[in-house]
Amino acid sequence: MASTLIDKGPQCGPLSLSGRGWGVVRHCGAMTLAIVAAMHEELRALLPALESARVVHHAGREFHCGRLDGHEVVLVLSRIGKVAAATTAALLVERFDARRVLFTGVAGGLGPAVRVGDVVVARELLQHDMDASPLFPRYEVPLTGRARFATDAPMSDALVAAAREGVSRVLELAGPLHRLADFGIGAPGVHEGLVVSGDRFVATAGEGEILRANLPDAVAVEMEGAAVAQVCHDCDVPFAVLRSISDRADDSAHVDFTRFVEAVASRYTATIVRLWLRRWPAPGASPDADEAL
Ligand code: SAH
Repeated sequence: MASTLIDKGPQCGPLSLSGRGWGVVRHCGAMTLAIVAAMHEELRALLPALESARVVHHAGREFHCGRLDGHEVVLVLSRIGKVAAATTAALLVERFDARRVLFTGVAGGLGPAVRVGDVVVARELLQHDMDASPLFPRYEVPLTGRARFATDAPMSDALVAAAREGVSRVLELAGPLHRLADFGIGAPGVHEGLVVSGDRFVATAGEGEILRANLPDAVAVEMEGAAVAQVCHDCDVPFAVLRSISDRADDSAHVDFTRFVEAVASRYTATIVRLWLRRWPAPGASPDADEAL
């Protein structure tokens, strides 16, 4: 499968090309950090801040290489669901030399205290629709011996810190206050814990309740994180997952979801990602955490 490269700016750091017989490998730069989102709205808020941007078209995706807050990054839309996310993660590691992966997006709240507008940092991920029982225990990914995949602790610790700072500023940063008030968002909470993924948009109270009963420690449900986790685990690449809560995985999930994503989600998680980037050590990182968020 061929890749095409389109210049959007003067340069993209130390771009390197090497043939491997099956295509062209293009690296965005040394120690590339990958930032992945499932939906356009989630990526849109980060793209304008990308410096020295170049786009590599590959496998139906646009990989945006450049510098963001002092980091060599590649930003990409994974598209929705576990297969799309796993494909994207594998391409990032194999073709773009991603050394760390951050997935950012929205999710449905499962934990009793997890409300629309809150932020969740995953500490573990599990595929809630994985079930090869009785051959393997329910949820266990066959031949890995595990159901839960842990995120990178230092990345996640820094994300929690960035999220705490972000939610205190997000009311001013995420646009007109009345929009957040429309969602009943006053002081968003930050949660950490188990995030579960599956190829279903959980949009009925019944489905949400089954997940809550079967996986009582799950804080949120989405459709990509655990797939990225499995790939990153296989490839020994540290990863983290940040989600803002768009709905409560119940009968009104589709309404809440659409309104939330359109109104606030994009700027919301982007703000936290950029605060995180500015905390995360990188050569040449901007020392000014307040600038141009
Ligand atoms: N209407 C959207 C569909 C989005 S699917 C569209 O046409 O683009 C839902 C996305 O948000 C997925 O990326 C998933 O990870 C996340 N998500 C948010 N709430 C969810 C829920 N209740 N159940 C599952 N995934 C959810």
